[in-house]
Amino acid sequence: MTDHTASLPGTDELRRRALDALRRVGASVPAGTGLSARSPITGETLLDLRADTADDVGRAVDEAAEAFATWRTTPPPVRGELVRVLGELLREHHGDLADLITIEAGKIRSEALGEIQEMIDICDLAVGMSRQLYGRSIASERPGHRLAETWHPLGVVGVISAFNFPAAVWSWNTAVALVCGDTVVWKPSELTPLISIAASRLLDRAIERTGAPAAVHRLLLAGRDGGEALVDDARVALLSATGSTRMGREVGPRVAARFGRSLLELGGNNASVVTPSADLEVTLPGIVFAAAGTAGQRCTTLRRLIVHRDVADEVVDRVAAAYARLNVGDPFDEKTLVGPLVNERAATAMATALDRAAADGGTIVAGGNRLGSGGGVFVEPALVRMPGQTAVVREETFAPILWVLTYDTFDEAVALHNDVPQGLSSSIFTRDQQEAERFLAADGSDCGIANVNIGTSGAEIGGAFGGEKETGGGRESGSDAWKAYMRRATNTINYSDRVALAQNVSFL
Ligand code: NAD
Repeated sequence: MTDHTASLPGTDELRRRALDALRRVGASVPAGTGLSARSPITGETLLDLRADTADDVGRAVDEAAEAFATWRTTPPPVRGELVRVLGELLREHHGDLADLITIEAGKIRSEALGEIQEMIDICDLAVGMSRQLYGRSIASERPGHRLAETWHPLGVVGVISAFNFPAAVWSWNTAVALVCGDTVVWKPSELTPLISIAASRLLDRAIERTGAPAAVHRLLLAGRDGGEALVDDARVALLSATGSTRMGREVGPRVAARFGRSLLELGGNNASVVTPSADLEVTLPGIVFAAAGTAGQRCTTLRRLIVHRDVADEVVDRVAAAYARLNVGDPFDEKTLVGPLVNERAATAMATALDRAAADGGTIVAGGNRLGSGGGVFVEPALVRMPGQTAVVREETFAPILWVLTYDTFDEAVALHNDVPQGLSSSIFTRDQQEAERFLAADGSDCGIANVNIGTSGAEIGGAFGGEKETGGGRESGSDAWKAYMRRATNTINYSDRVALAQNVSFL
Protein backbone atom coordinates (compact mmCIF):
# COMPACT_ATOMS: atom_id res chain seq x y z
CA MET A 1 0.00 0.00 0.00
CA THR A 2 1.29 3.45 -0.80
CA ASP A 3 1.42 5.99 1.99
CA HIS A 4 0.28 9.34 0.63
CA THR A 5 -0.19 10.98 4.00
CA ALA A 6 2.87 13.22 3.71
CA SER A 7 1.03 15.93 1.75
CA LEU A 8 -2.31 16.51 3.44
CA PRO A 9 -4.23 19.78 3.43
CA GLY A 10 -3.88 21.62 6.75
CA THR A 11 -6.69 22.61 9.10
CA ASP A 12 -6.68 26.26 7.93
CA GLU A 13 -7.04 25.14 4.32
CA LEU A 14 -9.86 22.72 5.19
CA ARG A 15 -11.65 25.40 7.24
CA ARG A 16 -11.42 27.83 4.31
CA ARG A 17 -12.79 25.22 1.88
CA ALA A 18 -15.64 24.36 4.26
CA LEU A 19 -16.60 28.00 4.79
CA ASP A 20 -16.46 28.63 1.02
CA ALA A 21 -18.78 25.69 0.37
CA LEU A 22 -21.19 26.83 3.08
CA ARG A 23 -21.20 30.39 1.71
CA ARG A 24 -21.99 29.18 -1.82
CA VAL A 25 -24.88 27.11 -0.45
CA GLY A 26 -26.10 30.18 1.45
CA ALA A 27 -25.68 28.62 4.89
CA SER A 28 -24.29 30.09 8.07
CA VAL A 29 -22.91 28.30 11.11
CA PRO A 30 -24.51 28.99 14.51
CA ALA A 31 -21.55 30.23 16.57
CA GLY A 32 -21.36 29.02 20.14
CA THR A 33 -20.32 26.03 22.14
CA GLY A 34 -21.42 22.47 22.72
CA LEU A 35 -20.49 21.00 19.36
CA SER A 36 -17.37 21.04 17.19
CA ALA A 37 -16.93 20.50 13.50
CA ARG A 38 -13.72 18.63 12.88
CA SER A 39 -11.99 16.92 10.01
CA PRO A 40 -10.67 13.36 10.17
CA ILE A 41 -8.02 14.40 7.63
CA THR A 42 -6.14 16.32 10.34
CA GLY A 43 -8.03 15.22 13.44
CA GLU A 44 -8.38 18.89 14.37
CA THR A 45 -11.32 21.18 15.08
CA LEU A 46 -12.48 23.40 12.24
CA LEU A 47 -15.22 25.38 13.98
CA ASP A 48 -17.13 25.51 17.26
CA LEU A 49 -20.90 25.52 17.04
CA ARG A 50 -23.85 26.10 19.29
CA ALA A 51 -25.49 22.81 20.28
CA ASP A 52 -29.28 22.63 20.51
CA THR A 53 -30.74 21.93 23.94
CA ALA A 54 -33.62 19.70 25.04
CA ASP A 55 -35.85 22.83 24.90
CA ASP A 56 -34.80 23.37 21.29
CA VAL A 57 -35.78 19.78 20.50
CA GLY A 58 -39.23 20.35 22.04
CA ARG A 59 -39.65 23.58 20.07
CA ALA A 60 -38.60 21.95 16.80
CA VAL A 61 -41.14 19.15 17.30
CA ASP A 62 -43.85 21.72 18.22
CA GLU A 63 -43.23 23.60 14.99
CA ALA A 64 -43.04 20.46 12.86
CA ALA A 65 -46.30 19.20 14.41
CA GLU A 66 -48.00 22.49 13.61
CA ALA A 67 -46.74 22.44 10.02
CA PHE A 68 -48.04 18.87 9.67
CA ALA A 69 -51.61 20.16 10.09
CA THR A 70 -51.44 21.92 6.73
CA TRP A 71 -48.83 19.76 4.97
CA ARG A 72 -50.88 16.56 5.34
CA THR A 73 -53.72 17.97 3.23
CA THR A 74 -51.46 19.53 0.59
CA PRO A 75 -51.92 17.39 -2.55
CA PRO A 76 -49.05 14.90 -2.83
CA PRO A 77 -47.89 16.10 -6.29
CA VAL A 78 -47.66 19.64 -4.82
CA ARG A 79 -45.54 18.20 -2.01
CA GLY A 80 -43.49 16.51 -4.73
CA GLU A 81 -42.72 19.93 -6.21
CA LEU A 82 -40.82 20.83 -3.04
CA VAL A 83 -38.68 17.71 -3.42
CA ARG A 84 -38.17 18.41 -7.13
CA VAL A 85 -36.77 21.86 -6.31
CA LEU A 86 -34.57 20.34 -3.61
CA GLY A 87 -33.19 17.97 -6.27
CA GLU A 88 -32.41 20.95 -8.53
CA LEU A 89 -30.53 22.71 -5.74
CA LEU A 90 -28.60 19.53 -4.96
CA ARG A 91 -27.55 19.38 -8.62
CA GLU A 92 -26.47 23.03 -8.50
CA HIS A 93 -24.40 22.48 -5.33
CA HIS A 94 -23.23 18.93 -6.02
CA GLY A 95 -19.52 19.86 -5.66
CA ASP A 96 -20.02 22.05 -2.58
CA LEU A 97 -21.80 19.31 -0.66
CA ALA A 98 -19.22 16.73 -1.76
CA ASP A 99 -16.46 19.03 -0.43
CA LEU A 100 -18.13 19.12 2.97
CA ILE A 101 -18.50 15.33 3.03
CA THR A 102 -14.83 14.87 2.21
CA ILE A 103 -13.82 17.40 4.86
CA GLU A 104 -16.05 16.04 7.64
CA ALA A 105 -16.40 12.32 6.88
CA GLY A 106 -13.10 11.84 5.01
CA LYS A 107 -14.68 10.23 1.93
CA ILE A 108 -12.62 10.26 -1.25
CA ARG A 109 -13.88 12.72 -3.85
CA SER A 110 -15.55 10.15 -6.11
CA GLU A 111 -17.49 8.59 -3.22
CA ALA A 112 -18.47 11.99 -1.82
CA LEU A 113 -19.81 12.99 -5.24
CA GLY A 114 -21.57 9.60 -5.37
CA GLU A 115 -23.29 10.28 -2.06
CA ILE A 116 -24.74 13.55 -3.39
CA GLN A 117 -25.76 11.79 -6.63
CA GLU A 118 -27.69 9.33 -4.46
CA MET A 119 -29.51 12.29 -2.88
CA ILE A 120 -30.44 13.62 -6.31
CA ASP A 121 -31.63 10.16 -7.33
CA ILE A 122 -33.89 9.78 -4.30
CA CYS A 123 -35.40 13.21 -4.97
CA ASP A 124 -36.23 12.12 -8.53
CA LEU A 125 -37.70 8.88 -7.23
CA ALA A 126 -39.76 10.65 -4.55
CA VAL A 127 -41.18 13.15 -7.07
CA GLY A 128 -42.52 10.18 -9.06
CA MET A 129 -43.76 8.54 -5.87
CA SER A 130 -45.78 11.65 -5.08
CA ARG A 131 -48.17 10.56 -7.85
CA GLN A 132 -48.06 6.88 -6.90
CA LEU A 133 -49.09 6.67 -3.24
CA TYR A 134 -51.62 4.05 -4.15
CA GLY A 135 -53.93 1.86 -2.11
CA ARG A 136 -55.76 -1.31 -3.11
CA SER A 137 -59.32 -2.09 -4.02
CA ILE A 138 -60.34 -5.40 -2.42
CA ALA A 139 -63.25 -7.71 -3.23
CA SER A 140 -66.00 -7.46 -0.62
CA GLU A 141 -68.01 -10.49 0.51
CA ARG A 142 -71.13 -8.30 0.74
CA PRO A 143 -73.28 -7.25 -2.23
CA GLY A 144 -73.19 -3.52 -2.98
CA HIS A 145 -70.09 -2.98 -0.88
CA ARG A 146 -66.59 -1.93 -1.73
CA LEU A 147 -63.46 -2.51 0.32
CA ALA A 148 -60.48 -0.20 -0.11
CA GLU A 149 -57.19 0.76 1.46
CA THR A 150 -56.12 4.36 1.69
CA TRP A 151 -52.78 5.73 2.85
CA HIS A 152 -52.49 8.88 4.92
CA PRO A 153 -49.59 10.94 6.26
CA LEU A 154 -48.27 9.77 9.60
CA GLY A 155 -47.10 12.91 11.42
CA VAL A 156 -43.70 14.15 12.53
CA VAL A 157 -40.84 11.89 11.44
CA GLY A 158 -37.70 12.07 13.59
CA VAL A 159 -34.54 11.21 11.66
CA ILE A 160 -31.34 10.27 13.51
CA SER A 161 -28.42 9.64 11.19
CA ALA A 162 -24.86 8.30 11.32
CA PHE A 163 -21.58 9.96 10.34
CA ASN A 164 -20.73 7.66 7.44
CA PHE A 165 -23.59 8.66 5.13
CA PRO A 166 -24.04 12.08 6.68
CA ALA A 167 -26.36 13.50 4.03
CA ALA A 168 -27.72 10.63 1.91
CA VAL A 169 -29.49 8.89 4.79
CA TRP A 170 -31.25 12.16 5.63
CA SER A 171 -32.40 12.51 2.02
CA TRP A 172 -33.65 8.89 1.81
CA ASN A 173 -35.90 9.62 4.74
CA THR A 174 -36.74 13.24 4.11
CA ALA A 175 -37.57 13.16 0.39
CA VAL A 176 -39.93 10.22 0.92
CA ALA A 177 -41.42 11.51 4.20
CA LEU A 178 -42.16 14.92 2.64
CA VAL A 179 -44.03 13.53 -0.37
CA CYS A 180 -45.91 11.24 2.01
CA GLY A 181 -47.17 14.38 3.82
CA ASP A 182 -45.03 14.07 6.95
CA THR A 183 -42.86 16.76 8.46
CA VAL A 184 -39.29 16.00 9.53
CA VAL A 185 -37.03 16.80 12.48
CA TRP A 186 -33.44 15.76 11.77
CA LYS A 187 -30.74 15.01 14.35
CA PRO A 188 -27.61 14.27 12.31
CA SER A 189 -24.40 12.77 13.66
CA GLU A 190 -22.50 15.14 15.93
CA LEU A 191 -19.43 14.25 13.84
CA THR A 192 -20.82 15.87 10.68
CA PRO A 193 -22.63 19.12 11.54
CA LEU A 194 -21.45 21.20 8.56
CA ILE A 195 -22.82 18.98 5.79
CA SER A 196 -26.08 18.80 7.77
CA ILE A 197 -26.30 22.59 7.94
CA ALA A 198 -25.66 22.83 4.18
CA ALA A 199 -28.18 20.14 3.19
CA SER A 200 -30.79 21.60 5.50
CA ARG A 201 -30.21 25.10 4.10
CA LEU A 202 -30.86 23.82 0.58
CA LEU A 203 -34.17 22.37 1.73
CA ASP A 204 -35.00 25.70 3.39
CA ARG A 205 -34.30 27.43 0.08
CA ALA A 206 -36.58 24.95 -1.72
CA ILE A 207 -39.26 25.65 0.92
CA GLU A 208 -38.93 29.42 0.35
CA ARG A 209 -39.11 28.94 -3.42
CA THR A 210 -42.22 26.73 -3.37
CA GLY A 211 -44.08 28.41 -0.50
CA ALA A 212 -44.28 25.22 1.57
CA PRO A 213 -44.73 25.72 5.35
CA ALA A 214 -41.32 26.68 6.79
CA ALA A 215 -41.42 24.06 9.55
CA VAL A 216 -41.93 21.01 7.31
CA HIS A 217 -38.28 20.50 8.20
CA ARG A 218 -36.24 21.29 11.30
CA LEU A 219 -32.55 20.61 11.93
CA LEU A 220 -31.18 19.89 15.39
CA LEU A 221 -27.46 20.13 16.04
CA ALA A 222 -26.92 17.96 19.06
CA GLY A 223 -25.20 14.89 20.38
CA ARG A 224 -26.75 11.77 21.74
CA ASP A 225 -28.81 13.74 24.31
CA GLY A 226 -30.63 15.53 21.47
CA GLY A 227 -31.32 12.16 19.88
CA GLU A 228 -32.72 10.84 23.14
CA ALA A 229 -35.07 13.82 23.49
CA LEU A 230 -36.40 13.08 20.00
CA VAL A 231 -36.77 9.38 20.79
CA ASP A 232 -38.87 10.11 23.88
CA ASP A 233 -41.13 12.76 22.31
CA ALA A 234 -44.56 11.18 21.91
CA ARG A 235 -45.41 13.58 19.05
CA VAL A 236 -42.75 11.91 16.89
CA ALA A 237 -44.88 9.34 15.09
CA LEU A 238 -42.00 7.59 13.35
CA LEU A 239 -38.43 7.57 14.55
CA SER A 240 -36.06 6.55 11.77
CA ALA A 241 -32.66 5.84 13.31
CA THR A 242 -29.51 4.89 11.43
CA GLY A 243 -26.38 3.92 13.32
CA SER A 244 -24.82 1.20 15.41
CA THR A 245 -26.69 -1.79 16.79
CA ARG A 246 -25.80 -0.44 20.24
CA MET A 247 -27.77 2.71 19.47
CA GLY A 248 -30.72 0.74 18.03
CA ARG A 249 -30.85 -1.47 21.09
CA GLU A 250 -31.45 1.67 23.18
CA VAL A 251 -33.72 3.52 20.77
CA GLY A 252 -36.02 0.65 19.66
CA PRO A 253 -37.44 -0.29 23.08
CA ARG A 254 -37.83 3.38 24.11
CA VAL A 255 -39.91 4.21 21.05
CA ALA A 256 -41.90 0.98 21.44
CA ALA A 257 -42.61 1.82 25.10
CA ARG A 258 -44.60 4.85 23.97
CA PHE A 259 -46.19 2.87 21.09
CA GLY A 260 -44.33 4.95 18.52
CA ARG A 261 -43.06 3.43 15.30
CA SER A 262 -39.38 2.99 14.64
CA LEU A 263 -37.45 2.27 11.47
CA LEU A 264 -34.04 0.94 12.41
CA GLU A 265 -31.05 0.80 10.03
CA LEU A 266 -28.21 -0.63 12.11
CA GLY A 267 -24.88 -2.38 11.81
CA GLY A 268 -23.96 -5.03 9.28
CA ASN A 269 -21.43 -7.85 9.05
CA ASN A 270 -21.57 -8.47 5.36
CA ALA A 271 -20.08 -11.43 3.54
CA SER A 272 -19.36 -12.62 0.03
CA VAL A 273 -19.15 -16.28 -0.89
CA VAL A 274 -16.58 -17.03 -3.59
CA THR A 275 -17.20 -20.36 -5.30
CA PRO A 276 -14.78 -22.37 -7.46
CA SER A 277 -16.57 -21.27 -10.64
CA ALA A 278 -16.34 -17.53 -9.85
CA ASP A 279 -14.97 -15.29 -12.60
CA LEU A 280 -12.07 -13.68 -10.75
CA GLU A 281 -11.93 -10.73 -13.15
CA VAL A 282 -15.38 -9.77 -11.85
CA THR A 283 -14.86 -11.00 -8.30
CA LEU A 284 -11.64 -9.18 -7.40
CA PRO A 285 -12.71 -5.57 -8.14
CA GLY A 286 -16.03 -6.36 -6.44
CA ILE A 287 -14.25 -7.56 -3.31
CA VAL A 288 -11.67 -4.78 -3.15
CA PHE A 289 -14.15 -1.93 -3.57
CA ALA A 290 -16.61 -3.44 -1.08
CA ALA A 291 -13.94 -4.17 1.55
CA ALA A 292 -11.51 -1.23 1.27
CA GLY A 293 -13.77 1.47 -0.24
CA THR A 294 -14.88 4.24 2.14
CA ALA A 295 -12.01 2.98 4.36
CA GLY A 296 -14.29 0.14 5.48
CA GLN A 297 -16.81 2.60 6.89
CA ARG A 298 -20.00 1.65 5.06
CA CYS A 299 -22.77 -0.28 6.76
CA THR A 300 -22.57 -2.54 3.69
CA THR A 301 -18.76 -2.87 3.73
CA LEU A 302 -17.58 -6.38 2.94
CA ARG A 303 -16.22 -7.76 6.22
CA ARG A 304 -16.15 -11.52 5.63
CA LEU A 305 -14.91 -13.43 2.58
CA ILE A 306 -16.10 -17.04 2.55
CA VAL A 307 -13.96 -18.75 -0.10
CA HIS A 308 -13.99 -22.31 -1.37
CA ARG A 309 -10.85 -24.11 -0.21
CA ASP A 310 -9.79 -24.92 -3.84
CA VAL A 311 -9.54 -21.24 -4.81
CA ALA A 312 -8.74 -19.67 -1.42
CA ASP A 313 -4.98 -19.28 -1.92
CA GLU A 314 -5.36 -17.73 -5.36
CA VAL A 315 -8.13 -15.35 -4.21
CA VAL A 316 -6.18 -14.28 -1.12
CA ASP A 317 -2.98 -13.72 -3.14
CA ARG A 318 -4.80 -11.63 -5.71
CA VAL A 319 -6.70 -9.54 -3.14
CA ALA A 320 -3.41 -8.95 -1.30
CA ALA A 321 -1.79 -7.86 -4.59
CA ALA A 322 -4.68 -5.44 -5.23
CA TYR A 323 -4.40 -4.11 -1.66
CA ALA A 324 -0.69 -3.45 -2.27
CA ARG A 325 -1.67 -1.01 -5.03
CA LEU A 326 -4.12 1.02 -2.89
CA ASN A 327 -3.12 4.62 -2.23
CA VAL A 328 -3.97 5.74 1.29
CA GLY A 329 -4.03 9.45 2.08
CA ASP A 330 -5.61 12.79 1.15
CA PRO A 331 -9.22 12.09 0.13
CA PHE A 332 -9.17 15.20 -2.11
CA ASP A 333 -6.34 13.68 -4.19
CA GLU A 334 -7.79 11.83 -7.21
CA LYS A 335 -5.20 9.04 -6.88
CA THR A 336 -6.29 8.23 -3.33
CA LEU A 337 -8.61 5.25 -2.89
CA VAL A 338 -8.60 5.06 0.91
CA GLY A 339 -9.14 8.15 3.06
CA PRO A 340 -8.96 8.48 6.84
CA LEU A 341 -10.92 6.70 9.56
CA VAL A 342 -13.34 8.98 11.32
CA ASN A 343 -11.47 9.23 14.64
CA GLU A 344 -9.02 7.67 17.08
CA ARG A 345 -11.75 5.47 18.53
CA ALA A 346 -12.11 3.76 15.16
CA ALA A 347 -8.34 3.18 14.99
CA THR A 348 -8.35 1.68 18.47
CA ALA A 349 -11.29 -0.58 17.58
CA MET A 350 -9.39 -1.79 14.50
CA ALA A 351 -6.16 -2.45 16.42
CA THR A 352 -8.05 -4.28 19.17
CA ALA A 353 -9.89 -6.45 16.65
CA LEU A 354 -6.59 -7.38 14.94
CA ASP A 355 -5.04 -8.30 18.31
CA ARG A 356 -8.03 -10.47 19.17
CA ALA A 357 -7.82 -12.15 15.76
CA ALA A 358 -4.12 -12.93 16.30
CA ALA A 359 -4.96 -14.47 19.68
CA ASP A 360 -7.57 -16.63 17.90
CA GLY A 361 -4.91 -17.94 15.49
CA GLY A 362 -5.57 -15.48 12.64
CA THR A 363 -2.84 -14.36 10.24
CA ILE A 364 -2.60 -10.88 8.77
CA VAL A 365 -1.88 -11.39 5.08
CA ALA A 366 -1.82 -7.70 4.11
CA GLY A 367 -2.14 -4.27 5.71
CA GLY A 368 -3.27 -3.43 9.21
CA ASN A 369 -0.65 -0.75 9.92
CA ARG A 370 -1.23 2.85 10.88
CA LEU A 371 0.19 5.39 8.43
CA GLY A 372 1.28 9.01 8.74
CA SER A 373 2.38 11.02 11.68
CA GLY A 374 -0.29 13.74 11.84
CA GLY A 375 -3.55 13.87 13.77
CA GLY A 376 -5.60 12.17 11.03
CA VAL A 377 -6.19 8.44 11.36
CA PHE A 378 -4.89 6.69 8.24
CA VAL A 379 -4.66 2.90 8.17
CA GLU A 380 -3.84 0.21 5.66
CA PRO A 381 -6.91 -1.96 4.98
CA ALA A 382 -6.22 -5.36 6.53
CA LEU A 383 -6.70 -8.81 4.99
CA VAL A 384 -6.73 -11.53 7.66
CA ARG A 385 -7.01 -15.31 7.26
CA MET A 386 -8.95 -16.83 10.14
CA PRO A 387 -9.12 -20.47 11.27
CA GLY A 388 -12.86 -20.07 11.96
CA GLN A 389 -15.68 -17.63 12.64
CA THR A 390 -14.55 -16.55 16.12
CA ALA A 391 -16.25 -13.92 18.28
CA VAL A 392 -14.32 -11.01 16.78
CA VAL A 393 -15.39 -12.02 13.27
CA ARG A 394 -19.02 -12.16 14.34
CA GLU A 395 -18.90 -8.51 15.52
CA GLU A 396 -18.98 -5.42 13.32
CA THR A 397 -15.68 -3.52 13.60
CA PHE A 398 -16.27 -0.28 11.73
CA ALA A 399 -12.89 -0.22 10.00
CA PRO A 400 -11.32 -1.87 6.93
CA ILE A 401 -10.71 -5.46 8.04
CA LEU A 402 -11.57 -8.32 5.69
CA TRP A 403 -11.70 -11.71 7.45
CA VAL A 404 -11.09 -14.68 5.16
CA LEU A 405 -12.79 -18.00 5.98
CA THR A 406 -12.72 -21.16 3.90
CA TYR A 407 -15.43 -23.71 3.14
CA ASP A 408 -15.74 -27.11 1.48
CA THR A 409 -19.44 -27.56 0.72
CA PHE A 410 -22.05 -25.05 -0.39
CA ASP A 411 -24.22 -25.80 2.65
CA GLU A 412 -21.25 -25.03 4.88
CA ALA A 413 -20.72 -21.69 3.10
CA VAL A 414 -24.35 -20.66 3.65
CA ALA A 415 -24.25 -21.79 7.29
CA LEU A 416 -21.09 -19.74 7.92
CA HIS A 417 -22.60 -16.82 6.08
CA ASN A 418 -25.75 -16.73 8.21
CA ASP A 419 -24.04 -17.49 11.51
CA VAL A 420 -23.66 -13.85 12.59
CA PRO A 421 -26.12 -11.66 14.52
CA GLN A 422 -26.39 -9.05 11.74
CA GLY A 423 -28.27 -9.40 8.42
CA LEU A 424 -27.67 -6.46 6.11
CA SER A 425 -25.91 -7.29 2.84
CA SER A 426 -24.48 -10.36 1.15
CA SER A 427 -23.30 -11.64 -2.19
CA ILE A 428 -22.12 -14.71 -4.04
CA PHE A 429 -19.59 -14.84 -6.86
CA THR A 430 -20.37 -17.84 -9.06
CA ARG A 431 -21.05 -18.89 -12.65
CA ASP A 432 -23.13 -21.80 -11.41
CA GLN A 433 -26.80 -20.88 -11.74
CA GLN A 434 -27.86 -23.47 -9.19
CA GLU A 435 -25.54 -22.01 -6.56
CA ALA A 436 -26.69 -18.47 -7.36
CA GLU A 437 -30.36 -19.41 -7.04
CA ARG A 438 -29.77 -21.39 -3.85
CA PHE A 439 -28.01 -18.38 -2.33
CA LEU A 440 -31.06 -16.21 -3.10
CA ALA A 441 -33.62 -18.83 -1.98
CA ALA A 442 -35.49 -18.94 1.34
CA ASP A 443 -32.82 -21.16 2.91
CA GLY A 444 -29.93 -19.17 1.40
CA SER A 445 -28.67 -15.75 2.52
CA ASP A 446 -30.72 -14.37 5.43
CA CYS A 447 -29.87 -10.74 4.64
CA GLY A 448 -32.03 -7.84 3.45
CA ILE A 449 -29.72 -7.51 0.43
CA ALA A 450 -28.47 -10.55 -1.50
CA ASN A 451 -26.46 -10.02 -4.69
CA VAL A 452 -24.94 -12.18 -7.40
CA ASN A 453 -21.57 -11.37 -8.96
CA ILE A 454 -21.28 -7.95 -7.41
CA GLY A 455 -20.03 -6.89 -3.98
CA THR A 456 -22.06 -6.14 -0.88
CA SER A 457 -21.91 -2.34 -1.02
CA GLY A 458 -23.20 0.34 -3.38
CA ALA A 459 -26.96 -0.23 -3.45
CA GLU A 460 -29.19 1.68 -5.88
CA ILE A 461 -32.03 3.74 -4.44
CA GLY A 462 -34.72 2.05 -6.60
CA GLY A 463 -34.80 -0.99 -4.34
CA ALA A 464 -35.79 -1.11 -0.68
CA PHE A 465 -32.70 -0.84 1.52
CA GLY A 466 -32.21 -2.43 4.93
CA GLY A 467 -31.46 -5.63 6.78
CA GLU A 468 -32.66 -8.30 9.16
CA LYS A 469 -31.74 -9.52 12.66
CA GLU A 470 -29.58 -7.02 14.56
CA THR A 471 -29.56 -4.74 11.51
CA GLY A 472 -33.01 -3.76 12.71
CA GLY A 473 -35.50 -4.85 10.02
CA GLY A 474 -36.15 -1.36 8.61
CA ARG A 475 -36.49 -0.57 4.90
CA GLU A 476 -35.80 2.77 3.26
CA SER A 477 -35.56 4.22 -0.26
CA GLY A 478 -37.35 2.63 -3.20
CA SER A 479 -39.92 -0.08 -3.91
CA ASP A 480 -42.77 0.20 -1.37
CA ALA A 481 -40.57 1.51 1.49
CA TRP A 482 -42.74 4.67 1.45
CA LYS A 483 -45.42 2.71 3.31
CA ALA A 484 -43.35 2.99 6.51
CA TYR A 485 -43.92 6.77 6.38
CA MET A 486 -47.72 6.56 6.11
CA ARG A 487 -50.63 5.09 8.00
CA ARG A 488 -53.04 2.70 6.36
CA ALA A 489 -56.83 2.92 6.66
CA THR A 490 -59.14 0.12 5.53
CA ASN A 491 -62.43 1.49 4.23
CA THR A 492 -65.71 -0.43 3.72
CA ILE A 493 -68.21 1.49 1.64
CA ASN A 494 -71.83 0.40 1.41
CA TYR A 495 -73.37 1.73 -1.81
CA SER A 496 -76.45 -0.52 -1.62
CA ASP A 497 -79.73 0.29 0.08
CA ARG A 498 -79.48 -2.65 2.46
CA VAL A 499 -77.61 -3.51 5.64
CA ALA A 500 -75.39 -6.58 5.31
CA LEU A 501 -73.15 -7.72 8.12
CA ALA A 502 -69.86 -9.51 7.55
CA GLN A 503 -69.69 -13.27 8.12
CA ASN A 504 -73.48 -13.41 7.51
CA VAL A 505 -74.18 -12.26 11.06
CA SER A 506 -77.82 -11.36 11.55
CA PHE A 507 -78.80 -8.78 14.12
CA LEU A 508 -82.14 -7.02 14.56
P1 NAD B 1 -23.71 5.72 16.25
O1 NAD B 1 -24.66 4.67 16.68
O2 NAD B 1 -22.56 6.03 17.13
O3 NAD B 1 -24.51 7.11 16.06
C1 NAD B 1 -25.56 7.24 15.11
C2 NAD B 1 -26.49 8.35 15.54
O4 NAD B 1 -27.21 7.95 16.71
C3 NAD B 1 -25.81 9.67 15.90
O5 NAD B 1 -26.58 10.73 15.41
C4 NAD B 1 -25.83 9.65 17.42
O6 NAD B 1 -25.81 10.93 18.01
C5 NAD B 1 -27.15 8.96 17.70
N1 NAD B 1 -27.25 8.25 18.98
C6 NAD B 1 -26.34 7.48 19.59
N2 NAD B 1 -26.84 6.94 20.71
C7 NAD B 1 -28.11 7.37 20.82
C8 NAD B 1 -29.17 7.15 21.76
N3 NAD B 1 -29.00 6.39 22.83
N4 NAD B 1 -30.36 7.76 21.54
C9 NAD B 1 -30.55 8.53 20.46
N5 NAD B 1 -29.60 8.79 19.54
C10 NAD B 1 -28.40 8.21 19.71
O7 NAD B 1 -23.20 5.31 14.78
P2 NAD B 1 -22.05 5.96 13.89
O8 NAD B 1 -20.72 5.62 14.46
O9 NAD B 1 -22.36 7.39 13.58
O10 NAD B 1 -22.27 5.17 12.50
C11 NAD B 1 -21.73 3.92 12.23
C12 NAD B 1 -22.74 2.81 12.47
O11 NAD B 1 -23.93 3.06 11.73
C13 NAD B 1 -22.25 1.45 11.99
O12 NAD B 1 -22.65 0.47 12.92
C14 NAD B 1 -22.96 1.28 10.66
O13 NAD B 1 -23.09 -0.07 10.25
C15 NAD B 1 -24.27 1.91 10.95
N6 NAD B 1 -24.97 2.33 9.73
C16 NAD B 1 -26.04 1.60 9.32
C17 NAD B 1 -26.68 1.94 8.13
C18 NAD B 1 -27.83 1.11 7.62
O14 NAD B 1 -28.53 1.60 6.74
N7 NAD B 1 -28.06 -0.08 8.11
C19 NAD B 1 -26.26 3.06 7.40
C20 NAD B 1 -25.18 3.80 7.88
C21 NAD B 1 -24.54 3.43 9.05
